[in-house]
Amino acid sequence: MSLGADMHDLVRRLYPLCRSITGDGVRETLAIVGEHLDLDVHEVPTGTRVLDWTVPQEWNIRDAYVALDGKRVVDFRESNLHVVGYSVPVRTTMPLSELRGHLHTLPDQPSLVPYRTSYYAPTWGFCLAQSTLDALPDGDYEVVIDSTLADGSLTYAEHVVPGQVTDEVIVSCHVCHPSLANDNMAGVAVAVKLAQSLANPYYTYRFIFAPGTIGAITWLARNDVERVKHGLVLACAGDRGSLTYKQSRRGDAEIDRVLAHVLRHRPHEIREFSPYGYDERQYCSPGFNLGVGSLTRTPYAGYPEYHTSGDNPDLVTPESLVDTLTVCREAVAVLDHNRRYTNLSPYGEPQLGKRGLYESLGGRSDAKDAQLAMLWVLNLSDGEHDLLDIAERARLPFAAVAAAANALRDAGLLKD
Ligand code: ZN
Repeated sequence: MSLGADMHDLVRRLYPLCRSITGDGVRETLAIVGEHLDLDVHEVPTGTRVLDWTVPQEWNIRDAYVALDGKRVVDFRESNLHVVGYSVPVRTTMPLSELRGHLHTLPDQPSLVPYRTSYYAPTWGFCLAQSTLDALPDGDYEVVIDSTLADGSLTYAEHVVPGQVTDEVIVSCHVCHPSLANDNMAGVAVAVKLAQSLANPYYTYRFIFAPGTIGAITWLARNDVERVKHGLVLACAGDRGSLTYKQSRRGDAEIDRVLAHVLRHRPHEIREFSPYGYDERQYCSPGFNLGVGSLTRTPYAGYPEYHTSGDNPDLVTPESLVDTLTVCREAVAVLDHNRRYTNLSPYGEPQLGKRGLYESLGGRSDAKDAQLAMLWVLNLSDGEHDLLDIAERARLPFAAVAAAANALRDAGLLKD
């Protein structure tokens, strides 16, 4: 099966599970991801202090509905979006006028069901299409939410691809949204393929699959971030929009320069950091200030189907998933090969011919670029500029500059 179809299949398979920030939906999701990657699954008990937060009670739900005369008019079994996430259990009957206070719709998108949660305030509610609500007659409605909120744990998982060094690159995806496809099962599907594609990388790559906010905070509370040198938060990775990179809080971190370079020749947008959006907010909180950016297609909250039933697998395309994966792989290739060298023969140009460096270019279609790349690497390898700086300054592809540096190093003209 093709890469794109593979990823799209995974999105479709994960889509129906009722995920939240805790509970069995997250575990089922990680079990499926675990069919593709070796995962370390962590369970962190309710009540555990994590930075300024506390791991909440675990939420699970079996069924929920609103019924009139025994007929379900809003049904959790049709879509898990129909229940406000973390709803407390309810079993009662009430008139429509009273029920309305617990119903959420999107009047401007009357055919779509909104996605709502209430993690930290005990309440209950249903979400439905405005068109459904408009068609409800007055009457006494049976209201059932068969959920439990009880001490349990928060679940997250990691997959580690060991590198040549212990310095790490993290790739983080949130796994707390129920039936929403682009946000964020698309990010999960891309992360799975990216992890599978890494073979003996330079950095150690750590993939984090955790519920949004509380999951990232829990991970940060339990890990030594000293080893984290770079990172990407992956979300909304499969819609038809072009790519958007949101810079780290630093703005000039190596990951920011890498993504700018990789995206240069494609339609894209680069945005400055803001303390909103996905878990880059946590990784880039000032105490950590990690070099972690966020890669999406259409950014956070930027498409009309965002956080609605319109964010279904049809919104995600195999082509977009492949495009996002390709950019991630190119970014990894640049990160893994970016070095800073010193020219050992900086007084006048070293004679390349006598070292066989011209002959090595003979017959190559890109011989001119390759020669230019050598001259740029020699000129800018003063200990100040890394290969990415050189590629940018020379307006050459990173791969050409990295290949030139390898040849020069092998010829004894550069040192690390
Ligand atoms: Zn979301």
